[in-house]
Amino acid sequence: MSAKDYYEKDFYKELGVVKTASGDEIKKAYRKLARDLHPDKNPGNKQAEERFKAVSEAYDVLSDNAKRKEYDEARNLMASGAFRGFGGGAGPGAGTAGFDMSDLFRTASQGGTEGGMGGFSDLFGGLFNRGGAGAPGGGRVRAQKGADLETEVRIGFADAVSGVTVPLGLTERATCPTCHGIGAKPGTAPRECPVCHGTGLTTRNQGSFAFSEPCANCHGTGSIIDDPCPTCHGERTVLQTRRLTTRIPAGVSDGQRIKLAGKGEPGPGGGPNGDLYVVVHVSGHELFGRNGDNLTLTVPVTFPELALGTTLTVPTLSGSVSLRVPPGTANGRKFRVKSAGVTRKGVTGDLIVSVDVAVPQKLSSEAKAALEAFAKAQTADPRDAITRALRSRDGAAAGGSS
Ligand SMILES: [Zn+2]
Ligand SMILES: [Zn+2]
Repeated sequence: MSAKDYYEKDFYKELGVVKTASGDEIKKAYRKLARDLHPDKNPGNKQAEERFKAVSEAYDVLSDNAKRKEYDEARNLMASGAFRGFGGGAGPGAGTAGFDMSDLFRTASQGGTEGGMGGFSDLFGGLFNRGGAGAPGGGRVRAQKGADLETEVRIGFADAVSGVTVPLGLTERATCPTCHGIGAKPGTAPRECPVCHGTGLTTRNQGSFAFSEPCANCHGTGSIIDDPCPTCHGERTVLQTRRLTTRIPAGVSDGQRIKLAGKGEPGPGGGPNGDLYVVVHVSGHELFGRNGDNLTLTVPVTFPELALGTTLTVPTLSGSVSLRVPPGTANGRKFRVKSAGVTRKGVTGDLIVSVDVAVPQKLSSEAKAALEAFAKAQTADPRDAITRALRSRDGAAAGGSS
């Protein structure tokens, strides 16, 4: 099967599921179709048999997460028009007649490979040639997107609000500088794998189907290293640290993932770089909290301040504002200071100030005397409704017992 055949097949359509279907949905759809189309159930029905094969093939790919990912990526690549120049079409089925993907991807593979599988394995490089840096001689060209990377950074509260430039240190795999990615000790060379003859693939027969899978002898690399490189121990890559700085935009929130397109690992075979994801952790503030783009602040006040009214001086992130508290303000009331919150994408949130009565733990004798005088003078009962309810219950109890 050539790569062209492969990508032109819509495995999702074969199974009648959507592209975002879960593993369970795929399994369910497959089981039903396999039951209905099974040759035992449809003796002599050529059409059902063909469908049965197609459905099995689709399930073989879509039920394996790694294979499914490769398949999706390859189809996206085709649909994006990345290969428009070759076939004149913008995507699968669009005027690609006569265009064999294998030709494109086989360029530079060693001595050609049989049955079109060379192109196939190149296109689905991760699927059939995982971890391989190349066939013997390292001439294989495989345009793949580089791996995505993820790192973490912790920034201060104020920096999250205003935005900040931070240094990042990334540990990543890079081509071994000693063997230049060949994996063999300098002066020696890998030899062709005798099992797969350098293709990295072996064929397994299952019923009437033949599946290609990575060669177990060489782990799909196509080559055997007798004398491994002393630096990378034959791994072809080494871990190294890359340093870069990036701007964290204003208004970032705790736990947010920021995508830095093209800052991931380089793509093998000249493919595009992967992306870098930075998970931002934001430290708490000693005064402020955050709720989306709003900042929150709780201001302790005295009872007389709420009862008589007052003007509070309230801090903001950049300075302070005066906040008028009217007489008779309820405890816990929230005040909004417009546009003193977090600015994100041109929109600025507010500062939400809550007032919270602080009950004195100690009273001077003058304060105590004044409070007692207040209690005597203040005749309005805040528990009016409760007092009335208690009184009527007592009355009913007294009436019932006489
Ligand atoms: Zn090495
Ligand atoms: Zn092999």
